[in-house]
Amino acid sequence: MVPEGLEVEIWSQAAQVLVGRQIATVRVDPRCGGVGAEVLGGALIEGVSRRAKTLIIDTDHGLLGVHFGMTGRLVIDGHSPITSLEYGSARDLADWDRCIIEMVDGGITRVNDPRRWSRYEIVVDDPAAVVCTAPMFGPFGPDALSITASQLGDALGQRRRALKACLLDQSCVAGLGNMCADEVLWRADLDPRRPVHLLSGDEIDHLAGVIASTLPEMLRAGGSHMGQISPGLRRVGALCPRDGYPLDVATVAGRTTVWCRGHQR
Ligand SMILES: [Zn+2]
Repeated sequence: MVPEGLEVEIWSQAAQVLVGRQIATVRVDPRCGGVGAEVLGGALIEGVSRRAKTLIIDTDHGLLGVHFGMTGRLVIDGHSPITSLEYGSARDLADWDRCIIEMVDGGITRVNDPRRWSRYEIVVDDPAAVVCTAPMFGPFGPDALSITASQLGDALGQRRRALKACLLDQSCVAGLGNMCADEVLWRADLDPRRPVHLLSGDEIDHLAGVIASTLPEMLRAGGSHMGQISPGLRRVGALCPRDGYPLDVATVAGRTTVWCRGHQR
């Protein structure tokens, strides 16, 4: 899978072991951003959290924001809670390390990213600066892992864009990626191409309920590849697991989208 909010949530939970530890040095591949990373040398890690698909390492010298791109993978003290990604590699070459955080205690946390699309931003303690460094730090809509029906209704509003486009727009709903968006729309019986302003209140409530039940289930199962529209069904000729109808595979909202004309309306 490509890192979506679920993968970053898994990494964020695993990275809680970093809290309270002191950074010795931070090195970032200059092709991936991370200007000013040296200010984090000697900093104490005060918290690790996720905002949308960004991992935020909060220190007493400032914030390090990590966006994993398509193939970035977090390795903490030699262990990765997610070993392979759909477009990544099961290999772990030192040349692919784009960000290396060395701890005073000798531990090393790094982002291994074969395609070099991961991005890093340093924000020195100035809350106003966080707002300015979009899109890594927002603005974000309500997070998909906690969104309520009324928040979803407000976030979607009367937009005329395709429903899937709105779900992938992090300023509308934060944290959903391509596979999770396809999964929740498949489970909610909604066509990804439907213009949002034509959805009924009941349909939005139903979608919110599906998001609320589906994402924790996929998180427990291991991430965004653990839906019923599994990676193996993301191809022409695959059949809908619910009704056996041939699944559609086409570009919607600029992304490869899989859906079923048989039951998604
Ligand atoms: Zn179907």
